[in-house]
Amino acid sequence: MQTNTISKSTDRGRHITSHRQLVLLDNGGILIDNPGMREVGIADSPSGLEITFEAIYRLSQNCRFKDCTHTK
Ligand SMILES: [Zn+2]
Repeated sequence: MQTNTISKSTDRGRHITSHRQLVLLDNGGILIDNPGMREVGIADSPSGLEITFEAIYRLSQNCRFKDCTHTK
């Protein structure tokens, strides 16, 4: 992915992303770069996933598989 320098006046990154890209990481994570989106804040909150994906979380409570991790 193309990157740019940090702005000295604002001490923040400069927008450079011009296309959407999804990268599968070796550790199982997923990185998504999307123009105009600075971040999605669910990584640092234990309850973030339940709030962001509330419908899936609610459905998972009635899953018929006892060992299901709901990750695939
Ligand atoms: Zn399940």
